[in-house]
Amino acid sequence: MNPYAPFNPQERKVAYFSMEIGLTAELPIYSGGLGVLAGDTIKSFADLGIPAVGVSLLYKKGYFHQEIDAAGNQIEVPVQWEPSEFMTPLMEKITIMVEGRTVLIQAWVYGVEGIKGHSVPILFLDTDIEINAPADREITAYLYGGDERYRLMQEMVLGIGGIRVLQMLGHDNLEAYHMNEGHSALLTLELMERYQHDIETVREMCVFTTHTPVPAGHDRFQMDMVRELLCESFDLESLDHDNIIDEKDCLNMTYLALYHAEYINGVAKKHGETARKMFPEYRIDAITNGVHTRTWAADAMAALFDRFMPSWPNDPSSLRNALNIPRDQIWKAHLDAKQMLLDFVNERCGLDMQTDTLTIGFARRAAAYKRADLLLSDTDRLIELVETHGPLQIIYAGKAHPNDENGKTLIRSIHEKIGELEGKIDICYLENYDMYRAKLLVGGVDVWLNTPLRPMEASGTSGMKAALNGVINLSILDGWWLEGHIEDFTGWRIGRRQRAAEDDPENSREKDAADLYAKLENKVLPYFYENREHWVDMMAYNIALNGSFFNTHRMVSQYVMQAYFQ
Ligand SMILES: *Cc1c(COP(=O)(O)O)cnc(C)c1O
Repeated sequence: MNPYAPFNPQERKVAYFSMEIGLTAELPIYSGGLGVLAGDTIKSFADLGIPAVGVSLLYKKGYFHQEIDAAGNQIEVPVQWEPSEFMTPLMEKITIMVEGRTVLIQAWVYGVEGIKGHSVPILFLDTDIEINAPADREITAYLYGGDERYRLMQEMVLGIGGIRVLQMLGHDNLEAYHMNEGHSALLTLELMERYQHDIETVREMCVFTTHTPVPAGHDRFQMDMVRELLCESFDLESLDHDNIIDEKDCLNMTYLALYHAEYINGVAKKHGETARKMFPEYRIDAITNGVHTRTWAADAMAALFDRFMPSWPNDPSSLRNALNIPRDQIWKAHLDAKQMLLDFVNERCGLDMQTDTLTIGFARRAAAYKRADLLLSDTDRLIELVETHGPLQIIYAGKAHPNDENGKTLIRSIHEKIGELEGKIDICYLENYDMYRAKLLVGGVDVWLNTPLRPMEASGTSGMKAALNGVINLSILDGWWLEGHIEDFTGWRIGRRQRAAEDDPENSREKDAADLYAKLENKVLPYFYENREHWVDMMAYNIALNGSFFNTHRMVSQYVMQAYFQ
């Protein structure tokens, strides 16, 4: 049977391109928030019956498995997985030219089943084909594995190969090509060729979502290398305008995408503002990210939602009725989720964490700007807080990018602090943060902490997952939290309000830390131990106000109305 048969190509109106897509922990082809967002988006496409097809790469050697040694060093263990257990290869192949060589690309199809049976196919592109040269077979092997050259080859497969695979499969009447971040921006070159350099036609079809609020985070490739690898018939010299080729003679993938897209957006209201400041020559909208509710509600919470708001899985706005759920049942479901998490953590970290102890979670990529160590910056103060107000447990998790030495240093320094606090505060750094551990964590802790350097957190989605589960956010006012925060109702802010903080040249690490401790002392610990009633009310407000809004069903509806089918 042709695995593609269930999908009628004539109906696929939107192609969604992403360098990584996180669907389940079993498919190790994502690294963090960008990929998980892509997976959640496609799940909502499927639930809502949006005619879409996803395009990404098949990383047979995946993203690494993380172990951490006794000194806190990250060890990157290669992963092995068998694509054929999850997806089906298509027989037809297409080619692209890389450095003058012909490289064959095949696609594997993975079907994401929606709640009402609608299926959205994802095409995972793969160069590991026998007749390709050995080095070319490795192009799609690793996610974030190699150097710039390797990366550019991957982006050629994704952007140029992606368009050709879609065309081979009969997807030639698409209304929108959505670039989830600039990695797939080479698709615009292929579309320009196909449409005889009619920029208006191409623009009408292209949608670009930018995720990175700092210039250093945007992909740039030396033009010498670009010319060498992309020697095909693309007219590269004609790109020398509108910053697409910068003053250092680099191809800037963000500007390439910006120039060719009619609809451009940032991923939270504040990030939209930041992006407009970075790219004043473009009209940039904002669509705030979300999470796929069925994926991220802890089992015990989902069962509770099923009882009180049975339509929630495909109509997350009905979560607003969470205020009607008896508070003891919310607490009971939370304790079930917490027990599951603590069983998992205790076994792995050799600890004896308790469900009646206030538990703080901090888990996300170990990137320096997220400042995972802020909470532990003054261990004496932390001990004093615990002695006066009640015990505290902390669970950390997060992988550092293989080339990110600062991220690795961060993990080591947290390990040092864990040692200092041994016997006083139980802290576990859980190895190998993935979607499975994320789900346990966002549902099982009491407080979800986030301490990014402003304005670096474009959106942040793990806090939304926590809110959906009634877990209370304690966070710097950045990204989505500026929209989800109501002090003392949905959670607490750390640091000053947005405008004051932005004027602050040092972004005030000391002040932020002091404020974090003050919030723990004046709000978090006393509410948890002395005012449980208000605490559980806050949990209900989170589900009702934030779970009902910060989801990908709402987000996808916005993309459909504002970007795709204009
Ligand atoms: C949700 C998620 C993220 C994103 O976390 P942020 O809060 O956006 O940094 C990263 N990794 C995994 C495994 C996730 O599930």
